[in-house]
Parts: sequence; C-alpha cells; structure tokens
Amino acid sequence: MAAISIRNLVKRYSDGFPAVNDVSLEIADGEFVILVGPSGCGKSTLLRMIVGLEDITSGDLLIGGERMNQKAPRDRNLAMVFQNYALYPHLTVFENIAFPMRLKNVPNEEVTKRVNEAADLLQLTEHLQRKPAHLSGGQRQRVAMGRAIVRKADAFLFDEPLSNLDAKLRGQMRTEIARLQHQLGTTTVYVTHDQTEAMTLGDRIAVLRKGLLQQVGSARQLYEEP
Ligand code: ADP
Ligand code: ADP
Repeated sequence: MAAISIRNLVKRYSDGFPAVNDVSLEIADGEFVILVGPSGCGKSTLLRMIVGLEDITSGDLLIGGERMNQKAPRDRNLAMVFQNYALYPHLTVFENIAFPMRLKNVPNEEVTKRVNEAADLLQLTEHLQRKPAHLSGGQRQRVAMGRAIVRKADAFLFDEPLSNLDAKLRGQMRTEIARLQHQLGTTTVYVTHDQTEAMTLGDRIAVLRKGLLQQVGSARQLYEEP
C-alpha cells in the first residue's frame, strides 16, 4: 500500500492540446479515489501515466514517496483492472489468477495459498478449474480482480471495470469492489463515467474536464451541498 502524489502532471500527445493539463492530486495511503468526467477529458491518460503505460510530458509522479517518472511498469508494483478483463482463454481460472506470480517464479506452495485466498474472497473457489469461456461476465471480472489481488500491489487502478456488465451485475460487483477494497485497504484509483459508481464507491471524487482537474471532494461535497 502506498500514497500516490500527482504533481503538476502534463501529457501532451504529438498533436495539439494537452490531454492532461497540470493535474495535481494527493491520494492518501488506503484511499479510494474515483476519476470522473466526460469522454475524452483525460481519465485514461492519467491512469495510464500512473501505471507507466504512457510517458509523462512534465510534472512528477510519486508512489509511496518514490519518484516513478522514469520507472517501467513492472517496477511500479501496481495492479490494473480493465473493462475487457484481459484473461487468457487457454488457462484455467486458477492459472489466470496465478499468472503474475508465475512470472515472478513464486514457489508453488505460495501460489496455491494465495490463489485459494483470493478465490475465497471473490467466491470463485468452485470455478478454479474452469476456463474463462465458461464463466459469466461477473465471474470473469472477479478473476481479473483476483489477479490484481495476488500481486499484493501497492495500489489498484481500475479503468471502467464494470462497463461491459448488465445493470444487475454491475450493482453486485460494485458492492463487492467496495467490500474488497475496504477489507484489503489498498489505495485505489477508479475511472468511471457511471454516476452511481462515482457516488457510492469512493472516499473522494476527482472531476476532470478537458484535461483539467475541476473539482475534488466527497460525493456529499460535490453533489449534495449547494
Ligand atoms: P478519457 O479516458 O477521459 O475518455 P483519454 O485520456 O482517453 O480520455 O483522452 C484524452 C484526450 O487525449 C482525448 O482528446 C484523446 O483524443 C486524446 N488521446 C488519447 N490517447 C491518445 C493517443 N494515443 N494519441 C493522441 N491523442 C490521444
Ligand atoms: P510481460 O510480457 O513481460 O508481462 P508486459 O509489458 O505485459 O510484458 O508487462 C511487463 C510488466 O509490466 C508486467 O510484469 C507488470 O508488472 C507490468 N504491467 C503491465 N501491464 C500492467 C497493468 N495493466 N497493470 C499493472 N502492471 C502492468
């Protein structure tokens, strides 16, 4: 777990206006922050700069007090969950969850222990030997979350993880993500354009517009008070 300091971050793609324009935000250790704003406002770009999948044009990014600007994604110890799950179709649920540990040559015994713990938390125990094609959308999303959990990452980054699910499942998964984040206490940045997710999930909401950070506050501060 770690605090994330975003200091005057700018992302300028080769053409034109900055996609992220001088954004500063201090995210506390264990805090759950929602990034909202209209399509094209820079949410994904900001998230991708945090993970390291996008170069920073200027500004500073610190995670756990350490400057990350030049660090490769693999050296940041962050776990990202996408809307399209990114599961391996030929691997079982067990091996999909185990994958990040296999890359790091974690001993088998430890792999089994951590996968079982994650499966327990995510109600996937009965599905560990199945392949993704035989799972529901919600179950697939849980597998993707399982993979994020077993990394013991410093932070979770979610990029619209529920937007491919139907309304009922979205509601269930929302509850589950909130419970899990609370239980694990892992610093979380969560991108969504869904108002309900923004209102119910996070400690604070950060509103982006045209690359600028417009407002930051709790749901009450942003939506209820005049
Ligand atoms: P959001 O996630 O809020 O929809 P993005 O971060 O994807 O917004 O995009 C922010 C802006 O940056 C948009 O104007 C988009 O067109 C532009 N953009 C995103 N990715 C690229 C890219 N690879 N090259 C050039 N422009 C991009
Ligand atoms: P590799 O084939 O070596 O995994 P990648 O470029 O897919 O190459 O990933 C390299 C490392 O970068 C991964 O081991 C992981 O630590 C990190 N990484 C890549 N994508 C993500 C992501 N979406 N979220 C968090 N970390 C990532």
